[in-house]
Amino acid sequence: MLTDASARGLGALFSLAVPPACLICGRPSAQGHRDLCGPCLVRTGTLEPVIEAGPGGVSSVVVAGTYEGISGEIVKTLKFRRHLAAAGVAASLLERAITLASPGFLRERPTVVPVPPDPLRWFIRGFDPTEEIAIALAERMSLPYSRLLVRRQGPRQTGRGRADRLARPPVVALAEPEATLPNRFLLVDDVLTTGATLTASAAPLLRGGASRVDAVCLARAGNRG
Ligand SMILES: [Zn+2]
Repeated sequence: MLTDASARGLGALFSLAVPPACLICGRPSAQGHRDLCGPCLVRTGTLEPVIEAGPGGVSSVVVAGTYEGISGEIVKTLKFRRHLAAAGVAASLLERAITLASPGFLRERPTVVPVPPDPLRWFIRGFDPTEEIAIALAERMSLPYSRLLVRRQGPRQTGRGRADRLARPPVVALAEPEATLPNRFLLVDDVLTTGATLTASAAPLLRGGASRVDAVCLARAGNRG
């Protein structure tokens, strides 16, 4: 049986023997980087984030990249391969996107709030990828963080067509309806499809007294319906 100290020692030896691998492609990580290899780092550096008017209730949304590109690969690494370190990579891309697309935005010090998960998905996965990204983003950018929103049993968004999603948005509410809300919010979501989830998430914040809600998303899903 290993003591803690000897287990740590073995762990250190192991990490010396096996160089860290890129979360996306598995090649050895770049010098000085733990999570990405050189070519994948280059790909993150060529992303061109955009800022646009948000869907209903959301003033603006910054989108870091597309689902077909490295942004989507990071989402899939986190969601389906359950590499939690990918949340940190995602947060660094979101920080870069906000800084490039909306540099004045952070003066307002918005409270970072993750779009709440589908309860069934959360139960099956045991973690919420969007929450992991939002926590990492708030830490990186020294912004206040709050998990203020909950999803009520309503229609699931994944796997539904665009028209159906827009017609039957998810039902989102404040986790603590009586709480006094901050003024400005930054909603975080991993994938932007129709914007129905962002609109549903902004609504209880605005009803609760927030003056402005913006959003940031890692990847836009092009024609996934
Ligand atoms: Zn790579």
